[in-house]
Amino acid sequence: MPEFAAFVPTLEGSHWQQPLGKIVCVGRNYAEHAAELNNPIPAQPLLFIKPATSAVHIKQPLQLPQGQGDVHYETEIALLIGKPLCKVDDSTALNGVVGVGLALDLTLRDLQSELKKQGHPWERAKAWDGACPLTTFVPADRVTDWSALELVMRLNGKEKQRGKASQMLTPIATLISHISQTFTLLPGDVVITGTPAGVGRLTSGDHLELELTDLLKEQLTLA
Ligand code: ZN
Repeated sequence: MPEFAAFVPTLEGSHWQQPLGKIVCVGRNYAEHAAELNNPIPAQPLLFIKPATSAVHIKQPLQLPQGQGDVHYETEIALLIGKPLCKVDDSTALNGVVGVGLALDLTLRDLQSELKKQGHPWERAKAWDGACPLTTFVPADRVTDWSALELVMRLNGKEKQRGKASQMLTPIATLISHISQTFTLLPGDVVITGTPAGVGRLTSGDHLELELTDLLKEQLTLA
């Protein structure tokens, strides 16, 4: 049995020690991404949860699952929650965010398509160990304009994804408020806010560069 150590998100410049609780994810939050997978735009945010065991720091060596079809990247803005948030409104939602970073919502796409066809839950495709690499978070107080946050992802030197928070169908504060009506968010929880268009397949040896506005830059090479 491998030893299990609870994943603790890294928050730059702080001694953050709260282990990650849950990762609340939103699907189809950018219209162009919904369209590229032939999915309708949902009437309200489409939510699902990845367990804490799916989180890894993006600098940890990443092994893709084998023999289960394509593994897709989805680059997403990630929020680290610092205060309990239960049924909050839009105007106070952001007070509970302590850090902002990037996540890869790794997805076994062939398996997800099969599960969707059968009307089954997606967890087997999205919640496996290692399915949510997270960057280091930067303090949320460095964000001056939440709608101006922009992520960029380059794969082997080519830009594949670029998305601005202002393009989200449900903006960040509204999203947190909406989530908190159903799932209480606790310190150490993470919210990932959906992927812009340009998702695609990963293969071993791929080199990824991730950027969030001028707040953070990370790169990694897959095993
Ligand atoms: Zn996603």
